[in-house]
Amino acid sequence: MEVKEIDIPQTRAFSAFDKISELGHEQIVYCHDEFTGLKAIIAIHNTVLGPALGGTRMWNYNSDEEALIDVLRLSRGMTFKAAISGLNLGGGKAVIIGDAKKLKSEAFMRRFGRFVESLGGKYITAEDVNMKTRDMEYIAMETKHVTGKPEWMGGGGDPSPVTAYGTYLGMKAAAKKVYGKDSLTGKKVAVQGVGQVGSFLVGHLMKEGAKVYVTDISNTKLEQLSKEHAVEVVEMEAIYDLDIDIYAPCALGATINDGTLGRLKCSIVAGAANNQLADEKRHGQMLIDQGIVYAPDFLINAGGLINVYSEYLGNYNRNLAHSQAEKIYDTCLDILNVATQEGITSQDAAMRLAQERIDAIGKVQLGY
Ligand code: NAD
Repeated sequence: MEVKEIDIPQTRAFSAFDKISELGHEQIVYCHDEFTGLKAIIAIHNTVLGPALGGTRMWNYNSDEEALIDVLRLSRGMTFKAAISGLNLGGGKAVIIGDAKKLKSEAFMRRFGRFVESLGGKYITAEDVNMKTRDMEYIAMETKHVTGKPEWMGGGGDPSPVTAYGTYLGMKAAAKKVYGKDSLTGKKVAVQGVGQVGSFLVGHLMKEGAKVYVTDISNTKLEQLSKEHAVEVVEMEAIYDLDIDIYAPCALGATINDGTLGRLKCSIVAGAANNQLADEKRHGQMLIDQGIVYAPDFLINAGGLINVYSEYLGNYNRNLAHSQAEKIYDTCLDILNVATQEGITSQDAAMRLAQERIDAIGKVQLGY
């Protein structure tokens, strides 16, 4: 094997360790396999409440730094999501760098499964963007630390329908807060991203008689959805300028940012995407200043995690997972009320509740 000289940079514009300590992560694992072309990062944020469970996202990131920041933000979100949902799980997440359409194969996914296995259960994976139940099946051939497996393998299948259901209930709780009643009939809702979660969410909204606008980078998905539902398709950028009641981000994160905030004309932001606020503090406050109520993403999109948790416990039951996810409505309404009463952002109110549980249970575990 040829020995390559290692190029050590003299100045470091970006410090991974600074970022990791800023967000409070426990462990980051870089995974590489030359044969399959696998490049992945597994981030374990916090394991006070239990093993770090979070899906794997496959995305063609522009740089390794972008992938690292994404996995750090996503895994931290999982810690708070599990905590606020009352689950005994920590927060973790994985990203695989590359084009899912070109790279995915049985060997590729199984190699990733071996990396998950090497962590001995400290990290448990599941589906996220561009990962399907079929991929979990391959991963499960190499490790038992995987959820979101197909039903024939004793799994709960795709968690997205439960995520969509919880998001829908969170949206209704926000509607109750803003309009005094939680009906979405006649409300104009813009769903950005009609993938696994977005398309199920559209189903709930249509059933309730909402007027639904959709956008997606994939024309195929838009065409498919338009065949099933009478939705109005809009251009990608146009979604931010619509005269609507509710904006539901269901694609990627950070769509609430300096560029979009001034354009939004809705009264509620409630969607399934993780990390919707580009800057939690600043953009959370800007939403309040614009009179927009924000249903915290990690709270209302927890249905999928609740679903895979039930699978992880070994007694998967879809009805039970659904009824557990129904608690999202009350928690969301409580959080929105606490935020108004205390003059803080709903994101801060939700994070505080989650952190209080982590701190309290951390102390319980100190005893024998
Ligand atoms: P998905 O890949 O099935 O769907 C994402 C959709 O967004 C795709 O159709 C994609 O084409 C589209 N998209 C990507 N970029 C876009 C853009 N700029 N504008 C418009 N559309 C765009 O993924 P998913 O499982 O539906 O997840 C959607 C979001 O919800 C993600 O942020 C994910 O992390 C989050 N989430 C998912 C689950 C789950 O159970 N699947 C659980 C919690 C959170």
